[in-house]
Amino acid sequence: MPDTGQSYRGRFAPSPTGPLHLGSLIAALASYLDARHNGGAWLVRMEDLDPPREEKDAAGRILDSLRDHGLLWDETVCFQSQRGAAYAAALKQLSESGHLFYCDCTRQQLGPDGACRGRCAPRQGQLGKPTATRVAVPPGCRIDFMDEIQGTVTTALGVELPDFVVRRKDDLYAYQLAVVVDDAWQGITHIVRGSDLLDSTPRQIFLQKLLGLPTPRYSHLPVITDASGQKFSKQNHAPALDSHDAPANLRTALDFLGQPKPPAGLRTTAPILQFASRNWRPGEIPAVPAIAATHRA
Ligand code: GLU
Repeated sequence: MPDTGQSYRGRFAPSPTGPLHLGSLIAALASYLDARHNGGAWLVRMEDLDPPREEKDAAGRILDSLRDHGLLWDETVCFQSQRGAAYAAALKQLSESGHLFYCDCTRQQLGPDGACRGRCAPRQGQLGKPTATRVAVPPGCRIDFMDEIQGTVTTALGVELPDFVVRRKDDLYAYQLAVVVDDAWQGITHIVRGSDLLDSTPRQIFLQKLLGLPTPRYSHLPVITDASGQKFSKQNHAPALDSHDAPANLRTALDFLGQPKPPAGLRTTAPILQFASRNWRPGEIPAVPAIAATHRA
């Protein structure tokens, strides 16, 4: 992912649903190294948009853990919980350009992909409460992008997902909307994150186009899975990282990313990160969506 021209701004955008675990450290580290290798800025954005799923103190613990691993960010941390006015403005823009409709479908009425598929659009005056707000994707809409790790991704978005939620029934702004608004607001040029978000990217590019926002470059990393093939995640109770093992955790994450091993003599996080940033080889990251963990942090 060599930077060509425009200045590089990357980010790590955790949701505070639990502490940092090996899977999230891998995403944090790869986005950090890609930014630092390219002389860029690295920002942290706390995606605290969904209080029912959040864990008390998780945001603070994630930030402490990043610091303990030597992953020091630039600029002030952005908290999405404070960005409601910006999301409201984006919704207004989408509404005024005629792209939104309300939907009262229950979970059972939605298809497995979560789309309303024409049930609510014709009944706008007669919907029950509560309603979600959805953006309509025209049937012919195709989104193609070149992922720096996974290669070309082509999606017949209008066929696969004719509509999706931008504001939920519980009135919370949807991740897809907030992430697009904030990536643009923070001037993010490069997004490095797990491939579990690969199928969100076409939706995000679609929203960027509707809102007249630039599309950053994307790199989707393989996600780490446990022995049974489940993504290593907070929901699956992946163990929290122990900050006392920070140098070893960084080595494990670098190994997972196919990066050169820092010399054994480097025992603390700062020289390990310096080595890793100097020797960053994104071309060595395995171009697969998932890798089973062979070791646990
Ligand atoms: N907040 C999202 C998560 O923790 C990641 C968002 C992103 O990197 O775009 O899964």
